[in-house]
Amino acid sequence: MYPDKIYYEPDVLNYPLGQELKDKYAAVPWIEIESHNKIDELRSNENSQFANMKRHLIIGTRKTHKYVPNQKVSDYLVPYTSSGCSAMCLYCYLVCNYNKCSYLRLFVNREKMMERLIKSASSSEQELTFEIGSNSDLVLENTITNNLEWTIPAFTAQPRGYLTFPTKFDMVDPLLDLPHKGRVIFRMSLNPQEIISKIEIGTSSLKRRVQALNKMCDAGYKVGILFAPIILVDDWKKIYTEFFTQLADTLSDKVKKEAFIEIIFMTYSFVHRAINAEAFPSSPDLYSKENMTGRGRGKYCYQTSLRTEGESFLREQIADTLGDMPILYVV
Ligand code: SF4
Repeated sequence: MYPDKIYYEPDVLNYPLGQELKDKYAAVPWIEIESHNKIDELRSNENSQFANMKRHLIIGTRKTHKYVPNQKVSDYLVPYTSSGCSAMCLYCYLVCNYNKCSYLRLFVNREKMMERLIKSASSSEQELTFEIGSNSDLVLENTITNNLEWTIPAFTAQPRGYLTFPTKFDMVDPLLDLPHKGRVIFRMSLNPQEIISKIEIGTSSLKRRVQALNKMCDAGYKVGILFAPIILVDDWKKIYTEFFTQLADTLSDKVKKEAFIEIIFMTYSFVHRAINAEAFPSSPDLYSKENMTGRGRGKYCYQTSLRTEGESFLREQIADTLGDMPILYVV
């Protein structure tokens, strides 16, 4: 992603990464802001400007560093070097937090965040796992900041704890030779290409994501597969059946032997629907009155009976095509 303009808090130029970005993007306009959380000229834009706003980059410092306990792959969700994203998945969870302002924000005070991570990892009696990518896509972010190339060696230079992050992108080559020491869990999100093309706008293709996952596993990273979100579009059984057959042919034997699986059904909302109708008028409407619970201005989930049917179908497909890969949870 090459930004069309940059909004920045002046303080960022006091940090090495802030200066690096200033040099890297000297050719685009830099607009001073008071706070990355309050950019009035963007907040007042119409929903139809959503895709245009995704081309901006916002640079600030992270002020809140509160870890949130988590019971899935990680022990804690850690606010890290970015939030938001320049891709445009129609269901993106970030839209619930940031609404139409879910553009990519970078936080340049990474030394402070790393110091806290290392302190938390080394002072705990148990080996803890920290999810550093729950608010953005760090593989995409790395193409702008090289933050993963900075983070992985810095974290593994001390002896305790694990890092994990999910992605929908394939630009992993700069990560392959890093000294991860088996303490980084790389999780690739996979969906049928038809869903990627129509719904996960601006992300890497299925073929490239599978290649990236195979490469990371070969490079000795611990790996997982996120089937997330499962979207029950028309013909979902046919689409997902073909998808699993394709995965059986293209995932490496090492991935099939070592990876774990997470399955998450799509959650949608009034806010997504309102933004998507104006920003992407020709895209499919992911809301279904018959198939979803929730009405009005809240969140929408698949009806329990459909979800149960979906879960049995997925478990069967996975067992038939990918063998006995462990499924950590289904939500
Ligand atoms: Fe959101 Fe992830 Fe898609 Fe980016 S890649 S828009 S963070 S769901």
